[in-house]
Amino acid sequence: MTTVAAYAAPSAKAPLERTTIERRAVGEFDVLIDIKFAGICHSDIHQAQEGWGEAIFPMVPGHEIAGVVAEVGSGVTKFAVGDRVGVGCMVDSCRECDNCKAGLEQYCTGGGMIGTYNALDKNGEPTYGGYSQQIVVDENYTVRIPDGLSLDVAAPLLCAGITTYSPLKHWGAGPGKKVAILGMGGLGHMGVKIAHALGAEVTVLSQSLRKQEDGLKLGADHYYATSDPKTFEELAGTFDLIVSTVSAPLDFGAYLSLLKTDGALVNVGAPEEPISLNLFSVIGNRKTLAGSMIGGIAETQEMLDFCAGHGFGAEIELIAASEINEAYERVLASDVRYRFVIDTATI
Ligand code: NAP
Ligand code: ZN
Ligand code: ZN
Repeated sequence: MTTVAAYAAPSAKAPLERTTIERRAVGEFDVLIDIKFAGICHSDIHQAQEGWGEAIFPMVPGHEIAGVVAEVGSGVTKFAVGDRVGVGCMVDSCRECDNCKAGLEQYCTGGGMIGTYNALDKNGEPTYGGYSQQIVVDENYTVRIPDGLSLDVAAPLLCAGITTYSPLKHWGAGPGKKVAILGMGGLGHMGVKIAHALGAEVTVLSQSLRKQEDGLKLGADHYYATSDPKTFEELAGTFDLIVSTVSAPLDFGAYLSLLKTDGALVNVGAPEEPISLNLFSVIGNRKTLAGSMIGGIAETQEMLDFCAGHGFGAEIELIAASEINEAYERVLASDVRYRFVIDTATI
């Protein structure tokens, strides 16, 4: 066991504060990672505020981890000391169910994936996330950060990147496809970059035109404000695919009206409240309303290689650990451009 410094929420809705946690001894197939950077995902806030239901406290959030391997177990074959690596939203799963075998570990049916924090590990101990100086993770749940990507802009790819890449690929975003990204925060801005790199015609649907210039620079072809009712008239029946990254409940009926026949609205946002929907909005024109959760380990590696190949990471604002609580407030106010990343040396 090693004692490491971390930032934790001591209880639901309490501000995060500096503390120390224990990391397990490095096992046969484990890597010890010196965490360099940790992204702040809106899911961290939902969980630290217990917005999704009962959570485990103290909670060390953080599932967008980039760092360097400091030690490897005797059985480790994939990584060596000094390698640049990442860890995303899960640190284990059953490894035996059909989904795990198919590389869909995030949908493990053998007890579910083990979250990087706010979960119980196989040894029964709570998991603690990336707002800390070191983490011990099984090599099979660790990915390699390609040389071309700096660790700070790579960190957010471990959740925001894969969560948008996976549905964009699954639902066929590419040349000839009109794709809308709903909400341009941490996930949304990665959705814009990735959909553009995949060759789709990309539209941002944001609450206002405040971030229009940025959106067009990131690769969007069009940018509309959803606060303007004319947007819904003008864009009715336009899109093959809409990916919603919005963290709050929305009128999905209005957004389904923007799909073509056979179009799909894929939701990745995880609001704390349910929505209500008139089902006529999917019956007409055979529309799909779907969801998607992060991506598997192999797909996460594929996404990192894809982003590095296209020469981009996330757009980030680097902060010190002492600024985490303020950053949470700014995320809640949709005032993030476009991901806060903690320099973990400041913990
Ligand atoms: P974020 O940076 O806060 O971005 C969310 C964006 O949604 C905001 O920037 C804003 O975009 C828009 N928005 C927020 N409140 C809104 C409202 N009341 N009405 C309309 N639009 C609103 O959050 P994030 O880190 O990208 O995460 C987004 C959501 O995805 C969260 O709920 C998170 O928990 C969830 N998530 C899910 C997965 C998954 O696997 N499915 C993975 C990661 C995160 P504009 O300013 O452009 O309007
Ligand atoms: Zn996340
Ligand atoms: Zn499984």
